[in-house]
Amino acid sequence: MSNAPRHIAILGSTGSIGRNTLDVLRNLPEHFRVSVLTTNSNIDLLAEQVKEFHPRAVVILDAEKAESFRKNHAPRGLLVLSGKEGLTDVVRRSDVSLVVNALVGFAGLRPTVEAIRHKKDVAIANKETLVIAGEFITALVREHGVRLIPIDSEHSAILQCLLGEQDNPPARLILTASGGPFLQTPLERFGKVSVDEALNHPKWKMGNKITIDSATLMNKGLEVIEAHWLFGLPAERIEVVIHPQSIIHSMVEFMDGSLKAQLGLPDMKIPIQYALTYPARMPLNGGRIDFPQLQSMTFFEPDRKKFRCLQLAYDALAVGGTAPAALNAANEVAVEGFLAKQIGFDQIPLFIEKALEVHRVVQSPTLEQTITADHETRAFTRTLFPA
Ligand code: NAD
Ligand code: MG
Repeated sequence: MSNAPRHIAILGSTGSIGRNTLDVLRNLPEHFRVSVLTTNSNIDLLAEQVKEFHPRAVVILDAEKAESFRKNHAPRGLLVLSGKEGLTDVVRRSDVSLVVNALVGFAGLRPTVEAIRHKKDVAIANKETLVIAGEFITALVREHGVRLIPIDSEHSAILQCLLGEQDNPPARLILTASGGPFLQTPLERFGKVSVDEALNHPKWKMGNKITIDSATLMNKGLEVIEAHWLFGLPAERIEVVIHPQSIIHSMVEFMDGSLKAQLGLPDMKIPIQYALTYPARMPLNGGRIDFPQLQSMTFFEPDRKKFRCLQLAYDALAVGGTAPAALNAANEVAVEGFLAKQIGFDQIPLFIEKALEVHRVVQSPTLEQTITADHETRAFTRTLFPA
């Protein structure tokens, strides 16, 4: 890495990925400076982060909370913005060269677009951006010559496996999945599973939305679409395998049948740090794999009938155009509904399927057409909720 520190904006610094990113940065003070932090509404945690990392600007989505933060917490000279425009404003700042997008859902799309247009590199955890507008975003990245580096552990694994293989196109990508908390739960029980059961992920501690996505396997479906756009392979050559130990984070197969895999303990700090220092590596404290203790790793095929969301994601990718944006919008609304105890766990795929049935697909959409597809599908999916 060069000697000059990089100035970073962390969008969603109070979330699971955001907090892990700050943990990583805490140990690399000579390489990075934090310029921007943002939160939806968690101003207490934001205040602690401001005290420790001294950013120049913060964004608080909620306007009232922003006002309260200005009054009670803001040190002199700190710029405090609010609203969605705040998020697109801060990524343009001249003192930012790398944006970590750790927002959840659709909210991540516009800030990513704005960052790329202003020639910032983006380390992206917010997979929904690539699901919604992968074609548009990857073209924009090429146009502006910036780096878009995945934080998602599977995509980080693939990126690492592809190093040094510029002349060897991958034959197959194999995404691993832990399988979530309902791997052994019979489908008949899916109507009765509680929010608490669904939030109890066996391997990863994450935000609520992605934890539910992991329980339905929609998370893996979104990751198939994300991999398609990041690495350019068709859906038929992107496979999913269940690997409950979450030690292999994904694999690449080459034309001679040779495979490369990336392994590590399930700790998001590893792919986060790699995205920040890429292609260099830096020391990172944490556990190490003990193979004799691990003893075995197991693999099996996902049940796409039981985990219908995975199949729906493959179907949306095959249809193309705005279909993945509609899939994502319906999923976001259904997951919110499940978390609010308005609908059952088993209704999530049913709502998405209905939304995809009525969605009128636009091929090669503009950004605005993609956003319209999102908004229309959200509105439709809400009509499916019980009154
Ligand atoms: P989280 O819910 O823990 O954090 C989300 C952050 O975004 C918070 O800081 C929150 O204040 C902010 N936020 C939420 N909604 C917002 C909105 N509408 N506008 C502005 N800010 C908003 O989520 P997370 O688990 O950190 O996940 C973030 C992203 O990273 C998701 O796209 C997820 O799929 C992806 N991801 C997460 C993990 C993980 O281990 N948590 C792993 C891989 C990928
Ligand atoms: Mg992942």
